[in-house]
Amino acid sequence: MSPTGRFAPSPSADLHVGNVRTAVLAWLFARSTDRRFLIRVEDLDDRTSGDVAERQLRDLAAVGLDWDEPPEYQMAHESRYDAVIDDLVSRGVTYECHCSRGDIQQAPRAPHAPEGAYPGTCRNLTDAEHAARRASGRAPAVRLRSEVGEFTVTDVLHGSYTGVVDDLVLRRGDGVPAYNLAVVVDDAAQGVDQVVRGHDLLASSPRQAYLGSLLGYPTPVYAHVPLVVNTEGKRLAKRDGAVTVGDVGAARAMTQIAESLGFESAALTGMLAEFDPVRLPREPWTYRPE
Ligand code: GLU
Repeated sequence: MSPTGRFAPSPSADLHVGNVRTAVLAWLFARSTDRRFLIRVEDLDDRTSGDVAERQLRDLAAVGLDWDEPPEYQMAHESRYDAVIDDLVSRGVTYECHCSRGDIQQAPRAPHAPEGAYPGTCRNLTDAEHAARRASGRAPAVRLRSEVGEFTVTDVLHGSYTGVVDDLVLRRGDGVPAYNLAVVVDDAAQGVDQVVRGHDLLASSPRQAYLGSLLGYPTPVYAHVPLVVNTEGKRLAKRDGAVTVGDVGAARAMTQIAESLGFESAALTGMLAEFDPVRLPREPWTYRPE
């Protein structure tokens, strides 16, 4: 498959300037390296928001981005995830997990266990213990039985990055494929070999690259780009004021994005001519709505 980059929005809310900046960067990374560029709507979690997805696509087109295939919707590919999860289950590298969020928070953990990592409560239950817990109510999640505690990825902006790999969820208790599984399976299925996305997902990339390695997928090139924050240093959100493309207008949003990235041109072709990953800012962009 030809080299491919992508932008993969979740249709949970209209895109704000920060999301669009990430999309523009993903497009610039792809086009400057002669890659195809795709959009994937990550709607496994946001099943009722078809109209949000449509507005997101409209806004991406309004700022001038183009993509090489019709956008793919995760909801249309549930069998793709099922096949991979079934394969991992049959290889014996998964287990059922009966823990609620509260159980995980309260579980005793080893002194140096990394924050947020699953403590392994259900990893070594006997068949009888599993059956008893299954009978007591909630449908179990499926977790990967990870053989490593951490994994190293290479990121264009961050160099070598080592992060935690815990027994990540593959399928949630409600039956929905987990984000970490879906993103890895989709990127491989779509031939994506360049993953450009927000810095908040850097910490997930070792988990995803490890899972991809178990599935025999090639590891993509990663670039985790700086987030956009409000004046309090928190993630930009609707309550911060005029922040969506609809509020700001596509042309003004592109001017702001170009300025924030140090480009002289606010047109995509001009940005592409100027684009050099080495010169990208590494710090979050503080956005002040006008
Ligand atoms: N859908 C994710 C988000 O909107 C991004 C996933 C990814 O790019 O890997 O935060």
